[in-house]
Amino acid sequence: MASDENPFTNLQEQIDDAASYLPSTVNDDVLTRLKHPERVLETNLTVDMDDGSLETFTAYRSQFNGDRGPYKGGVRYHPDVSRDEVKALSGWMAYKCAVVDVPYGGAKGGIVVDPGEYSAAELERLTRSFAEEIRPLVGEDRDIPAPDVNTGQREMNWIKSTYETLERTTAPGVVTGKSIENGGSEGRVEATGRSVMLAARELFGYLDTPVDDATVAVQGYGNAGSVAAELIADLGATVVAVSDSSGGIRDADGLDPRAVKEFKNDTGTVSDYAGSENITNEDLLTLDVDLLVPAALENAVDGDLAADVQADAIVEAANGPLTPDADDVFQARDVPVIPDILANAGGVTVSYFEWVQNRQRFYWSEERVNDELETVIVDAFDDLVEAVETLDLPSFRVAAYVVAIQRVVDAYTGNGNWP
Ligand code: NAD
Repeated sequence: MASDENPFTNLQEQIDDAASYLPSTVNDDVLTRLKHPERVLETNLTVDMDDGSLETFTAYRSQFNGDRGPYKGGVRYHPDVSRDEVKALSGWMAYKCAVVDVPYGGAKGGIVVDPGEYSAAELERLTRSFAEEIRPLVGEDRDIPAPDVNTGQREMNWIKSTYETLERTTAPGVVTGKSIENGGSEGRVEATGRSVMLAARELFGYLDTPVDDATVAVQGYGNAGSVAAELIADLGATVVAVSDSSGGIRDADGLDPRAVKEFKNDTGTVSDYAGSENITNEDLLTLDVDLLVPAALENAVDGDLAADVQADAIVEAANGPLTPDADDVFQARDVPVIPDILANAGGVTVSYFEWVQNRQRFYWSEERVNDELETVIVDAFDDLVEAVETLDLPSFRVAAYVVAIQRVVDAYTGNGNWP
């Protein structure tokens, strides 16, 4: 059962946990700063509906920390978006950029909306209204939005076009995750799933366990989950179960992740896929597999459910899928967890490559993007292993926050506390 814990307090708990392991003590006020966003915009957008009526939507943009570079983070369209969720996601972005050493701060945005209930024209008007509202906050060197749950290239193209039109300029780097024709990067769509695969591959190497013998379950079959499933299967592992919001499917002999994606594209769900058995999401999360990849939303596994999880290792594709209580359970049982802020950092890393290409007006091949991404993720994984071993840290999550917090603190200290 997914937990309704507050993701923002979970983020703060993760920072407190890690801060106690930092090699040098952090001043209490600096620690407070590390646990709160610098600013949060809350706004209400009144939009014309197709039938001539008006409807008002609440929207947010949280800028968490800008010490290491421009704020950076996705925009989520979901009925459960809240101020605290956006604040938490913006903090995870700040630490994610630091852990992979990409020169950005952290931000996140969201609109409280179920996009499935609106036409493309209504969503375009909503997105352009949001773009206009956040215009004073964003810019190629200020804050750079990107896709998140239920947003993609289409929405990023609309934000870019609104910004450029109103600013009377061309600034493709104002958002990332655009379509290729509009300044997007090769490899961006697959980047998050690719880093999940790389994190899983590195973890199995570290554990000295052959990844091609592994069985894998993936919760959530959108952009992050489906690509992760495909690329992990390409390593030779057997994907035995996947799920989406309407339920899961299982085939002990292995699913073909690309065929399942085609089936989901045609039918809207993975359920009833030929040759598989329908299971619940809870069944999926508690299957006896070598690797569990939660790739849906935050709080998928809380402390109670963690006690029933049988996976031998977890790689987090979603942001915040394990609550701190769940983390405690896995730590006590020595189940390694590669945290979201490393495992899904491929998205922001290739967003960074997209932004670099936009600034230079010089575009890279997909091969170059994938090679550079692999270097970033493998180096970041090695930094975590080194932190775990040299500082005797209890988990990869603590290691990720120790590395990331130290980088943010160093930048803050170097900048000086002004004004
Ligand atoms: P998406 O909208 O493409 O896919 C989300 C998937 O999760 C869908 O298949 C949906 O049906 C499923 N889902 C929702 N609720 C579920 C539930 N209770 N149980 C099982 N499945 C459920 O979104 P996405 O872009 O793949 O994002 C998924 C996660 O990955 C989010 O936490 C997001 O913040 C994170 N993430 C995404 C990116 C990216 O580049 N797309 C980058 C970093 C992190």
